[in-house]
Amino acid sequence: ETSTIEWAVARNDNGFVPLPLPVQGHINPLFRLAKLLHLRGFHITFVHTDYNYKRLLNSRALKALHVLPDFHFETIPDGLPLTHDAANVTQDIVSLGKSVRENFLLPFLELLVKLNDSAIAGLIPPVTGLVSDFCLTFTTQAAQELALLILLFSPSSATCLLCGVNFRTLSHKGLIPLKDESYLTNRYLDTKLDWIPGLKNFRLKDLPDFIRTTDPNNFMLKYVIDIAENVLKVSAIVINTSDELESEALRAFSSMIPSVYPIGPFPSFLNQSPESHLESLGSNLWKEDTECLEWLKSKEPNSAVYVNFGSITIMTPEKLLEFAWGLANSKRPFLWIIRPDLVIGGSMILSSEFANEISDRGLIASWCPQEQVLNHPSIGGFLTHCGWNSTFESVCAGVPMLCWQVSTDQPINCRSICSEWGIGIEINTDVKRKEVEKNVNELMSGEKGKEMRQKVMQLKKKVEEETRSSGLSYMNLDKVISEVFLKQT
Ligand code: UDP
Repeated sequence: ETSTIEWAVARNDNGFVPLPLPVQGHINPLFRLAKLLHLRGFHITFVHTDYNYKRLLNSRALKALHVLPDFHFETIPDGLPLTHDAANVTQDIVSLGKSVRENFLLPFLELLVKLNDSAIAGLIPPVTGLVSDFCLTFTTQAAQELALLILLFSPSSATCLLCGVNFRTLSHKGLIPLKDESYLTNRYLDTKLDWIPGLKNFRLKDLPDFIRTTDPNNFMLKYVIDIAENVLKVSAIVINTSDELESEALRAFSSMIPSVYPIGPFPSFLNQSPESHLESLGSNLWKEDTECLEWLKSKEPNSAVYVNFGSITIMTPEKLLEFAWGLANSKRPFLWIIRPDLVIGGSMILSSEFANEISDRGLIASWCPQEQVLNHPSIGGFLTHCGWNSTFESVCAGVPMLCWQVSTDQPINCRSICSEWGIGIEINTDVKRKEVEKNVNELMSGEKGKEMRQKVMQLKKKVEEETRSSGLSYMNLDKVISEVFLKQT
């Protein structure tokens, strides 16, 4: 029995066009899937927005003349006014969501027609299908108009999808939106969702923050309901997850859609691949600080806390200070990624008193190669905002978590981490330094921390097994290729 993947020797004659929602947490996993598909013989044309492409050149994730024979990039405009500082600024997500809905279809169709012309001229293989982020509902229409295959891709968890497809029911039952402000109490939000198969241990408060609205016309609420309706219409979806993590949610979700393929973690697949020219292609919109990896070398194994709140989360200066002093007072080494736009108001407010206190024990950087950091032997815990990628990457690195969830799918992921898998401790949204200090110490050297570390190491092994031959993720990758990608050829 062989445990290595059969990589394509000959290229096949199919081109696929992956299109992510243009934000970091959606780009990264789809980009990894695209690499995986390329390694299995497909021609890839990955679509970025003009804005993000510029940022990728700025961050040196891509080089301007990076033209590989079978892995191309194309760009379309996002329809938003230009931001003056394209190097560092996260776009306003709600505006981006709106703009994408209104403005993406036309340039996307034009791009597909252009690719078709190139194919007719014999320059590239014909485009056979789209691999579309599940948040981009218009791609179903594009695929229909041009008679292309379409595969949806979810960078979010299966549990999150399951919540989404149940929004309509929650709304029919009058549970969302909230009737009035008085429903914003813990008692109400503790309402269990145990009547929904696959969500037995979840509560209303674990659903995305935008359901906690009294406005039936709330953009995000309507947006998600639309997305969910579209998901329910498709025949096939790949989810960035592993059956080892979400078997119940996956089972429930699979009963609603014909073909559900949990495939992940992608890095485990890619790590098994032979050296390839794809390794030089990155997807980070911020420039990675690699010096932090050197700094980590000077720390003892499992001794340092890694702190990162992802690409979108913002916080008040007061909260930043609570985290800062909680970390300083824990006396543990820490690597903290503070994005240039993390703090509302933007100014850097950490004092020289703080700098003196931490001296070489703490390092602050603005962006890092997260997977490499998480897999560094010196890292013993992760203080995270519970984005799904960060969650999955932490599991794959065998690192237990401190969870500070704020919005979107973070409460769902936090519930999975802390209650379903028992590999994290939740920190109150209204964070206080004492709580940070206490929980950092518990995570790094307490009894609970030890237990969590053992559990997450077991999970790591299991999810990695899934990507070896005879593992479910491995088989799903084969299946999606034969059942969807090569269906018509
Ligand atoms: N990331 C990174 N370096 C950083 C911060 C984030 O490489 O300093 C990557 C991280 O590995 C993950 C993605 O950015 O793949 C963030 O996605 P996630 O779903 O965790 O959070 P979001 O940014 O969507 O809130």
